Amino acid sequence: MPGFEVFGDEEKQQVLEVFDTGILFRYEFGAERNDVYKVREFEQAFADYTGAVSAQAVTSGTAALKVALAALGVGAGDEVITQGFTFVATWEAIFDIGAVPVFTEVNETLNMDPADLEKKITEKTKAIIPVHMLGAQAQIKEIMAIADRHNIPVLEDTAQAAGARIEGRHLGTFGAIGTFSFDSVKTMTTGEGGMCITSDQELWKNMSEYHDHGHDHAVNPGGRGGEGRRFIGFNYRMMELQGAIGLAQLAKLDDMIAAQKKTKQQLKEAAASIPGVGFRRLVDEEGDSATFLAFMLPDKERAAAVNAVLKENNAGAINFGENSWHFYPSWEHLLEGKTLADNGWPFMAHGKRRVIYDPKALPVSAELMNRTLVYPIPVLMGQERLQDMIDALAKAAKL
Ligand SMILES: *Cc1c(COP(=O)(O)O)cnc(C)c1O
Repeated sequence: MPGFEVFGDEEKQQVLEVFDTGILFRYEFGAERNDVYKVREFEQAFADYTGAVSAQAVTSGTAALKVALAALGVGAGDEVITQGFTFVATWEAIFDIGAVPVFTEVNETLNMDPADLEKKITEKTKAIIPVHMLGAQAQIKEIMAIADRHNIPVLEDTAQAAGARIEGRHLGTFGAIGTFSFDSVKTMTTGEGGMCITSDQELWKNMSEYHDHGHDHAVNPGGRGGEGRRFIGFNYRMMELQGAIGLAQLAKLDDMIAAQKKTKQQLKEAAASIPGVGFRRLVDEEGDSATFLAFMLPDKERAAAVNAVLKENNAGAINFGENSWHFYPSWEHLLEGKTLADNGWPFMAHGKRRVIYDPKALPVSAELMNRTLVYPIPVLMGQERLQDMIDALAKAAKL
């Protein structure tokens, strides 16, 4: 990651095909567009690639989550369970649909702890969002078994794990809906953009209509203005330029992952020489998208000492315990209920607090995140830079 490292002639050619028609819009203009439908083609290619029946392109990964939640019928008063280690977008979408996010612990997969999920299900739980963080699998089979037992739909936030699999089956195809992001730092990028995949035609229809103001997209003599609608929607339409770039990037995804895997393996071997080191538990190492390498030290102090040596040697790692965008105790705006709304929504309703978040609610995750160090794995890494990092890890091993 990120996919823009390999932007080239393929992306340029795709974009030029759009400009040759002058039609930057996914709907209408049948007479002018010369049969160029890039977003539609990208949706089909993405569905084919992942093995889902249908795909719905949208403007971002955050929009994808919102559109998916809408399709599942989630609304005000509902609870949606996700994990305390994720990007803020996951729970922003939950609030935006009117529901309240409930957070689980993560375990050594750095993803949702199934045992903690089971404890947090209530009669208000309307959906469960496991996140495949840092390119690798949540324990989705265990999570699906629990969700099925309670008859609650699962939405997989696959924003960080496009192309990752379990025993050959793509992440995002286990739950009712899988969502993806193509923003600037993701493994494949369209600048901004997102995708929802599903094999349930009713859910796809809901998403297709909701993301475009409710338009039913049924052919009729009046064109777009004559289309009907079943419910209110919003505008999360992807534009043709994004669809075009997506087609070029998707064609490169498996090669990007293969390149990352090679680099990751060498860094992992170097990190393995650090005394006391352990690695993130992978559900299926073969299916890892190898976008990140995560390794754990015995405790927070040891992790800080190791990272100090790595930093001195120009190879500092990320400690998500210190990162304010991805981990629950650092989300002060969530914990303190900060919002632009004068009436306090979505934290307050009818003058009362709807939900209170205790910063100490996830002690297992805190202990784990504080002693975990993470390297993002670029698609392209020069031999010299790789050797520098390996040398830095060797120095840390002598600490
Ligand atoms: C990036 C990301 C999103 C949001 O995607 P955008 O395209 O930036 O809106 C959602 N969830 C996770 C886990 C992400 O990393």
